[in-house]
Amino acid sequence: MRAACVRAGRDPASVTLVAVTKGRDPAVMREAIAAGVRDIGENRVREALEKYAVFCPGAAVEQGKCRLRWHGIGHVQTNKVKDAVRIFDVIHSVDSLRLAEKISEQAAEVSKIQDVLLEINVSGERSKYGFRPEESLDALISALCFGNLKILGFMTVGPKESDPENVRKHFRLLRKLFEQARKNLITVKPEAADAFREVSMGMSDDFEVALEEGSTVVRVGRAIFDKGQ
Ligand SMILES: *Cc1c(COP(=O)(O)O)cnc(C)c1O
Repeated sequence: MRAACVRAGRDPASVTLVAVTKGRDPAVMREAIAAGVRDIGENRVREALEKYAVFCPGAAVEQGKCRLRWHGIGHVQTNKVKDAVRIFDVIHSVDSLRLAEKISEQAAEVSKIQDVLLEINVSGERSKYGFRPEESLDALISALCFGNLKILGFMTVGPKESDPENVRKHFRLLRKLFEQARKNLITVKPEAADAFREVSMGMSDDFEVALEEGSTVVRVGRAIFDKGQ
């Protein structure tokens, strides 16, 4: 990550590493935490709940002693919204206005302002969740109406490619959509523009390209946890 930031003339400290721990057991997670990981990414709410109970038991949370930040990075089903809002500091995968509304409603119930990102399907693959690039600005403006959300930015999952160079154009597009959206917010809703600073893109195979293209949050699993990588 540092090398990629230096290549791109960026400060490595300006980038967040989310360690993606789906399918990893708590013992392995403990090692990562001991090595300095503070941001944990999980793509399924049920699995995240189990781990949250291990690492952030109720008493610790009440005393503000859970030092980890929990990131929801997978599609959230409507019936899981309540749990997602309870445990996730940030939900990266808001892929519809219906979901945005549900999250905001649930957050209101527990007097929380939920940090979220809107997921954009930049590659246009049918198998993927997310707003289409051309609807990203409208989606953002609409989502700003939900009072208990704080919209931090945009997120995408790059297409699977054997050569990460082929993902570059998709990351470049997300960064461009982000810049345009931010510019727009500065004029129409300056108070929302201030919070809108994150571009969540880049995984094990393509995080270096993502950083060169302006990612501020990379979500990395296998490159951290798989042996022999
Ligand atoms: C699994 C996952 C990652 C991490 O993928 P790796 O290839 O293991 O780095 C990142 N983002 C999302 C949304 C994921 O589901």
